[in-house]
Amino acid sequence: SWSSSDSVISIESAGEPAEPESPYRVVLLGASGVGKTAFASIFAGAADSMDSDDCELCGGEEKIKTTVVNLNIKSFLRRFWQHMQTGDAYLLLYSITDRTSFLRASELRITLRRFCPAQNTPIILVGNKCDLVRRREVSATEGRACAAVFDCKFIETSAAMQHNIWEAFHGIVRQLRLRRDSREA
Ligand code: GDP
Repeated sequence: SWSSSDSVISIESAGEPAEPESPYRVVLLGASGVGKTAFASIFAGAADSMDSDDCELCGGEEKIKTTVVNLNIKSFLRRFWQHMQTGDAYLLLYSITDRTSFLRASELRITLRRFCPAQNTPIILVGNKCDLVRRREVSATEGRACAAVFDCKFIETSAAMQHNIWEAFHGIVRQLRLRRDSREA
C-alpha cells in the first residue's frame, strides 16, 4: 500500500578509521513529508546537495564517515525491498503532526519484522517535528507505547530545531556497536 510519494533515504556509515571495511547502512524509512530529507541533510551537513554527499560526523568520541543517498520517487519502489533487506539499522520516522504517518510507521515496523527477522537489528522509532506543539496529533505516550509493543527504542526529535537528532543517530551507532561486539565476543 505504498504511494509513489513515499521515499526512503539510506545513510551509509563507514565506521571508524580502524575498520574501514565494515560499513554500516542506516536506512531512514517513513511516509512522505515526515522529515527524512531534513534528517539526512543534517547528517550530510549540506542541505542543498542531497544526491550523494560525504561528511564527517563528530559528536563526543564518535567520528563516522557517512554517505547520504537520497533516492528519487521512481527508484524508490524498485529499490524498496533491496533497502528493506540490506539495512544494518533503521530510523523509522513519523511526524507528530500527522497521525497517518504514525500508522504508516507501524505498518513499516511490521514489514521490517517480516523481512529482517534478526531480533537485534537496531530500530529506533522517531517522532519528528516535536517543535510543532500546537499541531501535535500523536502524543509522546502513544509513541513510546508503540515502540514498546514493537520492541524498539523511541525518541522525539525536531529536525527544524536540530533537537535530539544526534541522540537518535548515536542511539543507532551504539546499538550497532553493541551488536558487533557481542558477535565478536
Ligand atoms: P521527507 O519527505 O520525509 O523527506 O520530508 P522532508 O525532510 O522533505 O520534510 C518535509 C517538510 O517538513 C519540509 O518542509 C521540512 O522543512 C519540514 N520539516 C522537517 N522536519 C521538521 C521539523 O522537525 N520541524 C518542522 N517544523 N518542520 C520540519
